[in-house]
Amino acid sequence: MFTEFEDAAYSPCGIPYVHGKEIPNFESLFLATKEQYAKQGIDIRYETRVDGIDLKAGKVHVDGQGDVSYDRLIVATGFNYADPGVPGADLQGLYYVKNIRQAMEWDKVLDTVKVAVVAEATPLGLEMVTAMAHRGIETHVVDHRPWALSDLADPDIAQPVQDSWAEMGVKMHFGTTLQAFVGEGHVRAVQTSEGELPCDLVVVCTKKEPNNALARAAGLKLGGTGGVIVDNRMATSAAGVYAAGDCCEIPLGVTNVGVQGLTGSHAYSQGKVAGINAGGGHREYQPVYVPWGMVAGTWMIGGVSFGETAAKALGIPYVMGTAQGISRARYFPGVTKIFVKLLAEPKTLRLIGAQMVGGEGIKERADFLAMAVKTGITLTDLAFMENVYSPPIGALNEPIAVAAQNALNKLNA
Ligand SMILES: Cc1cc2nc3c(=O)[nH]c(=O)nc-3n(C[C@H](O)[C@H](O)[C@H](O)COP(=O)(O)OP(=O)(O)OC[C@H]3O[C@@H](n4cnc5c(N)ncnc54)[C@H](O)[C@@H]3O)c2cc1C
Repeated sequence: MFTEFEDAAYSPCGIPYVHGKEIPNFESLFLATKEQYAKQGIDIRYETRVDGIDLKAGKVHVDGQGDVSYDRLIVATGFNYADPGVPGADLQGLYYVKNIRQAMEWDKVLDTVKVAVVAEATPLGLEMVTAMAHRGIETHVVDHRPWALSDLADPDIAQPVQDSWAEMGVKMHFGTTLQAFVGEGHVRAVQTSEGELPCDLVVVCTKKEPNNALARAAGLKLGGTGGVIVDNRMATSAAGVYAAGDCCEIPLGVTNVGVQGLTGSHAYSQGKVAGINAGGGHREYQPVYVPWGMVAGTWMIGGVSFGETAAKALGIPYVMGTAQGISRARYFPGVTKIFVKLLAEPKTLRLIGAQMVGGEGIKERADFLAMAVKTGITLTDLAFMENVYSPPIGALNEPIAVAAQNALNKLNA
């Protein structure tokens, strides 16, 4: 295995929470030590760049080491942040969160930072805004889009997050275009369509794009998103070559349209499927329904497939039910609100998407709803679903069921 990084198999997902001081150190993010991998017989070449794939000869070219032959190859090159495409991108003080060793160094820098700008309210952007604010840094978020996470979440889902950011002192600049990073050697401001914002650091959280340079140069077939096209065994267009993770494009189950930039849990399952097939076994990967969820500000938000905004943009017809429910018995300490939106196909009432915001219990609902979409569950099924009622962990009325009942009531009115 070749990796450009100094380490393998750590959780980048935990980095924002170390920066936010919720996790005490980076060490706990590593899955295993280098010695443990070596003991398992895994030959990992760290800080080693593969700079070419020769599909015909069945070889990869390793920087400084020459050609290495393969019987089967798995391409798992991950993602790159989209180029912000503005002047000043070579200044110091621009932080692209990815590599854990660099994150350790940036964490020391953060101790000296008074004002930070987070460029774009993408999923990572949301986590980094929250982390910077937790850390006591004056934090600005700049995004040309109209609200936080607007590619994924509806405005009514994002609003509580933005309200909680405002309470945490975060300054939001939506509908504001980043025009340049300004500074002499080191960034001292960002120039935006609304004026200059002085800062000590910019966390660049642009869109995740597939890191497809090797695949493209080798001639592997790429999809419309730029991700490597794979079949249900994670096999690419070239014999004996598999791909997995953020560099791939996978069909979204509801629309059969290819999507890219999925999550670590998708990458992990895809890696297992690619590995088993490359090793001579047989395992299949299925289209995705993309349950998602995260903590942003003081809220949890999440969903499955897509929400109202994306459905409208894609021209997908839908009927919708919403409900404002609660996470525990109304009298139990710690009870929080949960707002649920369900989208269903107008004719069949099959669930096609959902969005939620609440204080707790969003992840479990997103996972459940993804399975509901996948298996063709309808609003009628959900309206009459059974649910756990136990004061510390669940309310009498499940918000998902109430949202489905409200949708049916609206349709029958
Ligand atoms: C800060 C952060 C927070 C995240 N939070 C979450 C989260 O909460 N939940 C979640 O599900 N996902 C999260 N993710 C996403 C998740 O980490 C990724 O989806 C997952 O790591 C993708 O795995 P991958 O193997 O495809 O790519 P990566 O883990 O990015 O690995 C790519 C590998 O390819 C190597 N590489 C690339 N090109 C070359 C080359 N030419 N030669 C040699 N090696 C090369 C790199 O060195 C690297 O080891 C987060 C990501 C980041 C960065």
